[in-house]
Amino acid sequence: MKGKNIVLFGPPGAGKGTQALKLITLLNVPHISTGDMFRYHTKNQTELGKKAQEYMNAGGLVPDEITIQMVRERLGNPDVKEGFLLDGFPRSTPQAKELDKMLEAIGKPLDHVVNISVSDDEIRTRLAKRAGIEGRKDDADQSVIQKRMDTYKNQSEPCLDYYRPLGKVRDINGLGSIDEIFERIRAAITSS
Ligand code: AMP
Repeated sequence: MKGKNIVLFGPPGAGKGTQALKLITLLNVPHISTGDMFRYHTKNQTELGKKAQEYMNAGGLVPDEITIQMVRERLGNPDVKEGFLLDGFPRSTPQAKELDKMLEAIGKPLDHVVNISVSDDEIRTRLAKRAGIEGRKDDADQSVIQKRMDTYKNQSEPCLDYYRPLGKVRDINGLGSIDEIFERIRAAITSS
């Protein structure tokens, strides 16, 4: 296996969070989810949380100056020494470029961008189901779901064009059981 510096990439509802929990056990690296960090801040109504909330509720991206600074601080934590699993970051090409700079500064270049794909119809079905389970506001509203899917297509997906020529993208079919998808990811990151 080449390394444990990993980005988990894919549209909302691709199963990134579910796979992340299994991967961190396998790899023994910290799970860095920007969505979870923002939810922590909004729940606790910190200054950062108050700023992030309106963007999250609308299904858009929290501005880069807030997001990038939060990730930069997190990557400054010594627990990333053996690697990290970034989940939900980067979500735009400018964020991807900033991430490269941060990783260069700490001497930990990215090894894999694990790209989990699922169809739009499957995303809608999964998010509707998750709304009933996790109670996330942004899963419960059809127009917010559509906005998040549009945000993914317009702003996040172009990250793949940035990473592909660098040979870092591992394409994973996100349809199947949790264990099947996990096995695909495990195989992809251990063989490349
Ligand atoms: P997630 O749990 O990853 O779906 O993220 C929930 C929400 O948090 C997103 O819809 C965005 O509003 C915000 N968010 C998470 N990660 C980022 C990011 N890298 N850049 C900007 N906003 C983000």
